[in-house]
Parts: sequence; C-alpha cells; structure tokens
Amino acid sequence: CGIVGYTGSGSATNVLVSGLKRLEYRGYDSAGVALELADGSTPGCVLDVVRSTGKVAGLEEELEAHHSNATCGIGHTRWATHGRPSVKNAHPHTSCDGRIAVVHNGIIENFAELRDELKSRGHQFKSETDTEVFAHLIEEAYDRHRAEPDALMAAVREACTFVVGAYGLAVVCADEPGTIAVARKDSPIVVGCGPDGSYVASDVIALIDATRDVVVLEDGQFACLTPQGIEYTDEQGRSIRPQVTHIDWDI
Ligand code: GLU
Repeated sequence: CGIVGYTGSGSATNVLVSGLKRLEYRGYDSAGVALELADGSTPGCVLDVVRSTGKVAGLEEELEAHHSNATCGIGHTRWATHGRPSVKNAHPHTSCDGRIAVVHNGIIENFAELRDELKSRGHQFKSETDTEVFAHLIEEAYDRHRAEPDALMAAVREACTFVVGAYGLAVVCADEPGTIAVARKDSPIVVGCGPDGSYVASDVIALIDATRDVVVLEDGQFACLTPQGIEYTDEQGRSIRPQVTHIDWDI
C-alpha cells in the first residue's frame, strides 16, 4: 500500500517513520522497516527488519529500543492482498540468507508458479504473500550478477522479467550498503534528492518535506538511489534522463 525509502546522511529511522505516518491516510493493516546496520565483522552491513501489525506509532515504539543510527532503509504500510494481516506477512520480506529485503505495492499474478519453481530450487518461504517471491528471485539473480559493479540493480531488473503483475518496488541488499534499487510497473513510485540524501515513496506526500523536485517513474523505468544522487535506467540497463516535476503545492 505505502512505500518509503531513504539513503543519505541523516537518520533513516526518522525519515521512514515520518514518511510512513504521512502515508497512513491510505489505510493499512501492518507496517515494517528494514534498516542497514553497520557490522564491522562482515563486508557490507546487516539488515535489521522490524515489523508490526496495527499503527505506525506501535512500530515507532518498537524501533526506539533499537537505537539505530542507520542512514539507509526502506519501509512499508501493507494492505493485504495475499496472506492475512500478520507480522510474518508484513513487509519487508527477505531472501533466505536475510541479505536482501524488499517492500512491494501491488499484486504478482504468477506468484504461485514462481513460488513452486523457487521451492523446487531449494528456497524456503517464510510468509504467505505474493511479494516474497521477489526477495527470492532477486537473491538468485544477485548470485548471477555478483561480480558486476551494479549487481543489485542488475538483479532487480532481471527479477522483474519473471514477474507478471503490478509492482512498486524498493530493495536493499546487505552487500551494497547505501544503495536502494527501485522499480515500477502499474503502481506509483516517486523519487527525489534533498540536501541530506535520496528518497523514494509511493506518494509524493511522503517526500515533500525533503524535496520538491521529484521524478515520477514510468513503467519499465528503474532508479538506483545512493546518498550522492539517483541514476535512472530502462529495462535494458541503459541510462535514461526522466523529466523532473516541481511540486508547488503545500499540505
Ligand atoms: N500483495 C502484497 C501483499 O499482500 C502487497 C500489498 C500492498 O500493496 O500493500 O503483501
């Protein structure tokens, strides 16, 4: 239902919680975030996934105990379509190894076939959602693209080729700290850069405190967010320059 993501120099927890509160008006049954936590013992980082049913205020309370100084993360408010409202069905959903986390708006029409194929290749599912297939598809594709400089973007692009349905998608990977991969098809996604970093949301209302110059992604366009800025590509991975929209209204 609602997506928000941030990578920059500020507090990801603060940006995600205030963004999710801005999206509350759309209605939802559960909410969650994945935050990138620095982990000196491994290259990259670890993903801290926190989810709860009910209000964003409840999630916020839970997050206070985490004292996270993360500067990159993704968040979601869920309106269940596949799988009842519950903590384990709340987004973000993760890959088997927990190193990829995904938030998704929309419906994956061929999720049952994809899940069966993934299961036959050894993937274990933790939820009843259609969304979770994205986490596993990206995990497999990431292994194929691991050596490439933009492995996460390449993996997300490849995963999208298997999916029939609608998606607004934001993805983080523990092996590429600070990067958020974004995709869209038939589900709204806007991105923008502010002085403190790069932002993604499913509704411009969650972005306008940070920036008023936004890009409304079109179907088949991909965005790669880093603290330094946003790069846009098409389905083939070719660089594109989408149009920037200036938001001049207030809320
Ligand atoms: N189909 C997904 C689910 O049921 C996403 C729902 C949404 O857009 O919130 O988890």
